[in-house]
Amino acid sequence: MRCYNHPDLEAVGICLGCGKALCPRCSQTTDPGILVCSENCGVRANSGFEMVNQIRQKTLNQNKVGGIFCFLGGAIFIFFGLFNLTKPHFFHLAIFLFATGISVIITGVMFLKVAKKSDHPTKA
Ligand SMILES: [Zn+2]
Ligand SMILES: [Zn+2]
Repeated sequence: MRCYNHPDLEAVGICLGCGKALCPRCSQTTDPGILVCSENCGVRANSGFEMVNQIRQKTLNQNKVGGIFCFLGGAIFIFFGLFNLTKPHFFHLAIFLFATGISVIITGVMFLKVAKKSDHPTKA
């Protein structure tokens, strides 16, 4: 890969603002060590990073909601499992409902674990 401005020089990286290949002479690094070609691109790259952080935060909330829904769904399955356990003919169904309920709750626990892990994102 060659530098966008100097076709005879080998590029060392890509500008995160505009995507141009850059040689050491053309590249600048901004605050958190982002490679860019100009100040304008630095601003653009930084706002891009902020957007990624916001999206991350949103997914995080969805993980929490997903976890809570899994708990509720699992509880309903287990409830119906208990309900059917009293009827001998539905014993297999009851076991199936139990198993489903428990696996759904485990999924919910995993969701919440992911949410908890990224609850304190390291500041860039
Ligand atoms: Zn650029
Ligand atoms: Zn260059």
